This record gives sequence, structure tokens and C-alpha cells, in this order.
Amino acid sequence: MSGSKNDTVVVIGAGIVGVCAAWQLARRGAGVTLIDRDEPGRGCSYGNAGALSFGSVAPLAMPGVMRDAVSMLLDPAAPLRIPLTYLPKAATWLTQFVRAARPDAVKRISDALSTLLANSIEKHLEILRDVGATGIVRRTGQLYLYPDERWLAKDAGSWQLRKAHGLRIERLDREGILALEPEVGPDYAIGMFTPDQGMSVNPYRQVTAIAADFARHGGKIVRDNVVAIEVESEQVRAVRGEAGTYPCDHAVVCAGAWSAQLLRALDYALPLESQRGYHVTVASPGISISRPVVAADRKVFLTPMEEGLRAAGTVEFGGLDRAPTRKRAEFLVRDMARVFPRVQIPDGWSFWMGHRPCFPDSLPVMGPSRHRGLWFNFGHGHLGLTMSAPSGDILARAICGEPSNIDLAPFSFARF
Ligand SMILES: Cc1cc2nc3c(=O)[nH]c(=O)nc-3n(C[C@H](O)[C@H](O)[C@H](O)COP(=O)(O)OP(=O)(O)OC[C@H]3O[C@@H](n4cnc5c(N)ncnc54)[C@H](O)[C@@H]3O)c2cc1C
Repeated sequence: MSGSKNDTVVVIGAGIVGVCAAWQLARRGAGVTLIDRDEPGRGCSYGNAGALSFGSVAPLAMPGVMRDAVSMLLDPAAPLRIPLTYLPKAATWLTQFVRAARPDAVKRISDALSTLLANSIEKHLEILRDVGATGIVRRTGQLYLYPDERWLAKDAGSWQLRKAHGLRIERLDREGILALEPEVGPDYAIGMFTPDQGMSVNPYRQVTAIAADFARHGGKIVRDNVVAIEVESEQVRAVRGEAGTYPCDHAVVCAGAWSAQLLRALDYALPLESQRGYHVTVASPGISISRPVVAADRKVFLTPMEEGLRAAGTVEFGGLDRAPTRKRAEFLVRDMARVFPRVQIPDGWSFWMGHRPCFPDSLPVMGPSRHRGLWFNFGHGHLGLTMSAPSGDILARAICGEPSNIDLAPFSFARF
């Protein structure tokens, strides 16, 4: 399946995943064209929480997930929302999600996640050192907050998995929380601190810095809406956009939540859903925090970004075309004020919504396809920023015929 370093490659999608893959390929000498219908980094990669969570080896579907999901669906303020009218569309995905929560599946998935996540911060730092933007990624640690033992018990399985895969975890009482983050309000009594994890202080700037370096070294960035991947005798020949056709030896699909619809014409039926997430960033919050703080009971990340304090989270089903729901962002504002009671949030706050590309088993689809020269790298879900640097390297190795450093089988499209 693999080619040579002199091949021409078209990468579809200039989010953090596509940009890292394009950069890695260009660095190996391939002639790479990166196509996006928008400027690089304006999709989901624009507004995530910036957490680099190499220890997050627990899939979203864990044993007991249905019980938690049902109680969340009955609570309009819960971090999970599925509009009733969308339920029939999401039914197949949800069935596969529940199946992925079986203990044997959880073990298999978390083993695969750990191979992909291993050394991800180092991989980000390697790229950023090369592009001259090292300050963007920092090893700040992450602090997860729980109101009490009952809330912590709900996540016990996830913490066990993280620990089993080698993540350093320090349990903190209220005093320990305040020693790290003095602004945390009285509702939180237990902290789980992971000192080795990190963050990006500006995920959008991270994408644009890598894209600019890619272009500086001869990579081509084209703005076009891709409408088809042209195949002849099971071999990719070109990528067709509205504005032109781009002949290539390889096409790499990194179109995030839009990837599955692009592949339907080639008869790939992949259960990719958008889990719509939101953020609110407060430019002058009047308080200072040093690391991503996670309100684990609300599944909300509060991250000190270059541009201000960001609250990010929520899982909303509803597909790619519905308008954003302002109510979801209002809950984030409320959560920010609960975690940090002294925060100053202006009345005129605005919000952002992005499409997390999610498969039901929390693993991306990554690697070769049924067609020669067609490669996949999408569906990184809640961990797409974290996984982008390692997945770009893995894919570039595969395309350039270098030995792989991980087993790609668990990430194959053929598992669906
Ligand atoms: C609220 C929120 C918080 C998050 N927090 C974190 C976090 O803390 N840590 C973490 O690791 N991850 C986080 N994520 C997940 C992460 O942001 C995503 O997994 C990641 O950005 C996906 O990157 P991508 O490049 O695959 O997709 P995208 O960034 O969406 O890029 C896909 C690109 O493809 C382009 N495209 C699509 N179709 C076409 C077409 N037909 N023609 C041309 N171009 C096309 C789009 O324009 C887009 O630019 C979060 C996500 C959200 C929403």
C-alpha cells in the first residue's frame, strides 16, 4: 500500500490533524497539496479546550455509561444533549456506543488509545520546535475537580485505567486544590492532579504556525471545496474540488466531522457523528489560573488561553447543519462562575461551536483504505488536538513506506 517519498499527495482538510499530516509528509520530501474550503484551522481545531491529555486512555463508553446517559438526558442542564428529533438518526451510532462499553471492548480500546497517545506532548513539541513556535505547548499539568466522593466514584474506572497505563496522578484535598489553584470555589472538595499532562495556549495559532511553516518549505495550500475523490481501477487518481482537479498518487482524508460524507460515493459507510461542543472565552476574567482545570461533574474544561479564560465542553448531538444552541453556552458561563466565583464575565460574552468528529468506540480511523493511494486520518473525537501530532507522523510513515511504530489494525475502517 505504501509509496515513495517522491509521490504527490493531496491532504483534504486543514484542521490540526490535516496540517500535522501534511507537515510530516512534506518534511519527508513528498509534494503535498493541502486543500480546505476555509482558511487553515477554522473548523473544530479552532476552539477546543487546548488540553493535551496523553493519559486519557479511557474511552467515552465505559461500563455504566447508559445509566449516566439516561439521567443526563432527563436533565436539560446536563452536559449531554440529544434533541428528540435527532434520536432516530443517532440510533445506530448509540447502539454501537453501548456495545463499545463492554469490559472486553474497553480494554482493547484503551490499549489502542494508549499506543496512539504515548509521547504525544513530545511529538507536539518536536513539531513546534521545528516551526519556531515552542511557547504554544506547555507541560502545565491538569487538575480535575470533584464535589465529593460520590462524584469521584463515577469516574473510578477511568482513573484506574489511566493509572494502569502509567499516568502519574496525585489525589488532593481542598487544601491541596487551593495550593495549586487558589481561585477554585467551595463546591469542589477533591482534586485529581496529573502533573505531566499539558496544554496548548492557543490551538488556532498552533494550526496556523504549522501551516505557515509547511507553506514556507514548499507545501501548497489551496482553498477549495472538495466534492469527489477520483478513482480508476481501485487506485486514486485525483481529488476534485469546485475550483479545480488535483492529480495525485495519494489522497489523505482529514476532513474531520465531514469525512464520512465525502467517502459515501466510494461506498464507505462509516458511523461518524458530530459531537457538537461549545466554548466561551473571557478576555479579561480578573483572575489568574495556571493550568487546565476540569469541573469533572460538569465535564467542562477551564483553560487559561493566550486570549483569556476559556470554558469548553458539552456534547450535543444534532448533525452538521443545525444552528448552534445558545443555551449550551449559557451553561458553560454558569459553570465557569461556579468553579471560579470571583471571575468577571462581561454581559456581552459570545460563544463558539465546533464539530468533534466521533466514532462510537472513541478511536479514530487511521491508515490505508480499500483503494490504493487513499488514506484515512479522521474521527479523533475529544482528543483530536492531543492525537494530531502522533497521528500525522504515523500516517506519513505509512505513506512513505517507512516501518510503522504502532499497530494500525485497531484503527482500521474495516472494524465497522
Ligand atoms: C469544545 C471542544 C473542546 C475540545 N477540547 C479538546 C481538548 O482539550 N483536547 C483535545 O485533544 N481535543 C479537544 N477537542 C477535539 C479536537 O478539537 C478535535 O478532535 C480536532 O480539532 C479535530 O481536528 P480535525 O483536523 O480532524 O478537524 P477540523 O479541525 O474540523 O478540520 C477539518 C477541516 O476539513 C475541512 N473540510 C471538511 N470538508 C471539506 C471539504 N469537502 N473540502 C474542503 N475542506 C473540507 C474543514 O473546513 C476543516 O477545516 C475539543 C473539541 C471541542 C468541540
